[in-house]
Amino acid sequence: MQTGDAELLRAINRYRVLDAIRRFEPISRSDICERTQLGRTTVSAIIGELIESGVVSSEPHDAAHTGRGRPRDFLRMNPDLAYVVGAKLSMHQVSITVTNLRADLFASEILPVRTWRLTPDVIADLLEDGIRAAIAKAGIDENKIAGIGVGIPGFINAVTGTSHWSPILGEEIVPFAAMLQERLGIATIIENDANLVTLAERWFGEGQDVDNFVVVTVEGGIGMGLFLGGELFHGHHGIGTEFGHSKIDRHGPLCRCGQHGCIETYIADYAIYREARKLLDLPPIDHDNPALEVAVSDVAVRARAGDMRLRALYEEAGAMLGMGIANLVNIIDPGKVVVTGSGMRAADLIEPSLRKVALENSLAMLRGSCEIVIHQGTDEVWARGAAALVLQSLFRQPWSDRTGMTLPFEQDGAQDTAIRFPAALAEGDA
Ligand SMILES: [Zn+2]
Repeated sequence: MQTGDAELLRAINRYRVLDAIRRFEPISRSDICERTQLGRTTVSAIIGELIESGVVSSEPHDAAHTGRGRPRDFLRMNPDLAYVVGAKLSMHQVSITVTNLRADLFASEILPVRTWRLTPDVIADLLEDGIRAAIAKAGIDENKIAGIGVGIPGFINAVTGTSHWSPILGEEIVPFAAMLQERLGIATIIENDANLVTLAERWFGEGQDVDNFVVVTVEGGIGMGLFLGGELFHGHHGIGTEFGHSKIDRHGPLCRCGQHGCIETYIADYAIYREARKLLDLPPIDHDNPALEVAVSDVAVRARAGDMRLRALYEEAGAMLGMGIANLVNIIDPGKVVVTGSGMRAADLIEPSLRKVALENSLAMLRGSCEIVIHQGTDEVWARGAAALVLQSLFRQPWSDRTGMTLPFEQDGAQDTAIRFPAALAEGDA
């Protein structure tokens, strides 16, 4: 065996041990051997190295529960080994969080700014200041920040760190990850905001136990993230899975994208409001006005109060989304579909028709085989997503170079800002 192969093998074994600890902690050494199918000697050597570098900590088994035999210790990941900055760009605000590797929140900042009016350079400057302030607020040394993950709406190429089109960064190609990384000197990854939510589900939520799953986000627009074979799918050009703009009726309403009958035009906030205006005396509100979210919440309240016309409106919106989900089920055959986002505050109004139509339009073979989970999600979900984005880089599978998340900015020479575990572990290969 050549040296390169031996090193790769060590990296693979270490990854498998770490992954078992992360997923099943607290876990005993013998359970790790069983789950990884690695020998005791190998596992012990790797664990010794992980404990020494502070990545993993060992705690004694509760004495009261110890029966006969050798006392066992249990292993856990050290969540405070490193910290992560998460940021999310929205049309009307910039949110910043500092979390540890378990996505526990240490500090947060919200900057109320109309981002869509600013140039990418000004947004990067704002983020730089906001991120420094958040790190200071958290009382954490900047050297302990493993990376920055930024969620941005639009066509975002996570691999190259560029925005190809975004309602915030504009229609030019913007190397936004590099712009931020240059300012802060911390490894930075950008990702489409729906993909961020999907990563959060993968690492901390509904996607932990299934390798093929879909997340549909219903908010101002409709987003989607897709995990295939345990990896986030980005498409050939890095801008795939635009479920919101898949067509359901070519003669349907006009979409923001300039085409007709996109699924978004039936279920997004502006679509609900457009239909409600046909029934109620409501003022026009543009789709990028923050007042829209409040106005749509009010429509839901009136539907719940018993306005049957509004109930029917929501029922129809749910049916259209159900139809779109049936198409996803038929094309992808996912193990699970998660429907989430602020639009699910009206889940009670759309869920029955959504489930009914999704079931009726799924192929007979697949009918009922795919679990549909509907939840509104939390405000911190994207902060978890940012943590997951960095975790994914830390836990990069050594045998795969197509995780879609390889760090584009690893450069030889002066500034090394790749996301990795602390030095002791990084040198463990040698
Ligand atoms: Zn569209």
